[in-house]
Amino acid sequence: MRAGIAAILVLLLSAPFPSDPEKEVAFRWIEQNAATTRKVSLNIWSNPELALREFKSSRELIQYLQSNGFRVEKGVAGISTSFVASSGSGKPVIAIYGEYDALAGLSQKAEPIRSPLVEEGPGHGCGHNLIGAASAAAAVAVSRAMEAGNLKGTIRFYGTPAEEAAGGKNYMLEAGLFKDVDILLGWHPGARTQANFEYSKAVTEVRFKFKGVAAHASSAPHLGRSALDGVELMDVGVNFMREHVKEDSRIHYVITKGGGQPNVVPADAESWYYIRANKHQDVLDMFEWISHIAEGAALMSRTQVEIQVADDSHEVLPNRPLAEAIDRNLHLVGPPKFTEEERTLARKMQEPLKGNFQGAFAENIEPLPDQVAQGLYSTDLGNVSWNVPSGSLGVASYPFGAPIHSWQVAACAGMSIGQKAIDVAAKTLAGTAIDLFKNPALVEASKKDFQERKKGYNYRLLLPPNRKAPVFQEAQ
Ligand SMILES: [Zn+2]
Repeated sequence: MRAGIAAILVLLLSAPFPSDPEKEVAFRWIEQNAATTRKVSLNIWSNPELALREFKSSRELIQYLQSNGFRVEKGVAGISTSFVASSGSGKPVIAIYGEYDALAGLSQKAEPIRSPLVEEGPGHGCGHNLIGAASAAAAVAVSRAMEAGNLKGTIRFYGTPAEEAAGGKNYMLEAGLFKDVDILLGWHPGARTQANFEYSKAVTEVRFKFKGVAAHASSAPHLGRSALDGVELMDVGVNFMREHVKEDSRIHYVITKGGGQPNVVPADAESWYYIRANKHQDVLDMFEWISHIAEGAALMSRTQVEIQVADDSHEVLPNRPLAEAIDRNLHLVGPPKFTEEERTLARKMQEPLKGNFQGAFAENIEPLPDQVAQGLYSTDLGNVSWNVPSGSLGVASYPFGAPIHSWQVAACAGMSIGQKAIDVAAKTLAGTAIDLFKNPALVEASKKDFQERKKGYNYRLLLPPNRKAPVFQEAQ
């Protein structure tokens, strides 16, 4: 008899969730509105817009949230494409963020071979069209569940532009927009389906602007001072420095300005750098060294250099209670289910990748790691996660082996392969948010974990105070 009771108890305790009426309301809403949500994500995918220029994409999401009863504050933090949408009132404030910017040069049709829609145009090679739509659906579904279950508090959606460059969330953080948020949740398309319990890399984004003197390159070269020489000498110096940085460092650059034509000594030239490492302190150290190299290059070429820090993001701070809550909800929802037809498309997309892949997709939920893992990417969630306890997940949205920021990811984000991640992500985020509203102890445990991981850390940033985001006008 005792054993029988124990068995029932074990069953009750090990079931991820007892039947939960609020989650049922949320999940049903997500299913009933799946066609509209997918359309929103496809509209964003069909009009890929670069960082800080997400005019149509942000309007698409604002319209979706407003038509579902959310109050929207537009153009916050001095960025016309950022917004905050809310439903409910008072504490706790549980927030979900959504991204929607695209990447340069990754224009791609919804086809399994490389085929740009617009030559050299932008494309959703990071699947942010899926993020925006699924996160917005999760927020609306939670608001419906709160009304049905009479849950107290505020559900908020943060429309965060410019994740791929400039760091939209950092501007929103500096404007104080996350101040009253108790917990922040989000997701990202991935090669695997998993609750994240990991650090990302920290990154700083810097522009080195060299200024020289223009002159005729043949008849008066002695009067010219080449800004391009400054850029090239600097890049050579940095490439020598690479031998002496930690193994987890990443330094990459592009030359964004190098002169107009060879017979004019270039008066203006610019290098754009991303400096990354697992720990933000290592980024700060490399930034100092690289700045000295830039100054040395300016001395050598008799030019001037202006150093502009465009963004500075910490590694993401992991949170164990949130990772566990997301993992439980992910198991309740299940991974995306791919069809044989989709597997065939995936194998076709894997062909140019030349790898020995174990199947077309990651079709199961990966176990939550016991120890904090280390991601190789960076995100502007980094700084926010040092200010608000944050949790996130990845959902399989493209084939095994396809690198993020590739045409394969851009193609999948416009195909059923990527679209089905919306359902999994929206339900998992909604389920986790509902747990947070219903269970104040989970909010407290997440905050305690957050405080403990930050203890003794000297949080510093290179960003100047009161900086303003670059402004772009929408083409008419
Ligand atoms: Zn991304």
